Amino acid sequence: MSESCLFCRLVRGEIPAGIVAETDECVAFRDINPQAPLHVLVIPRAHVASLNDATDAAQIGRLSLLAAEIARREGYAESGYRTVVNTGPAAGQTVFHVHLHLLAGRDLRWPPG
Ligand code: 5GP
Ligand code: ZN
Repeated sequence: MSESCLFCRLVRGEIPAGIVAETDECVAFRDINPQAPLHVLVIPRAHVASLNDATDAAQIGRLSLLAAEIARREGYAESGYRTVVNTGPAAGQTVFHVHLHLLAGRDLRWPPG
């Protein structure tokens, strides 16, 4: 846990979040600045700054599985969705608590910007 980390504070309930799913290990909530009709961030409760610092394969894997479950629940399993983890400055990571973006509800271009 990190005292000042934005997403750790969100996990502790100190910052309001539109939580869409919670498990023992993960929390999923709506992005404050959505880039698609569905834009959810899935994070581990434990503080991990980025994929560069990740060591627990099961923890990182569960982010994807929870995103898939949310996509299914929201009706996007068949039409499709995208999951993205930005790592480091060149990828535009702005919050240094690892998070998986789940985006759906519009045509997503490839390659991404
Ligand atoms: P990154 O750019 O690090 O991959 O993604 C960080 C994401 O966190 C951005 O999409 C941004 O909109 C979102 N975000 C930043 N601050 C908050 C917040 O206080 N609440 C929520 N729900 N999302 C946030
Ligand atoms: Zn954190």
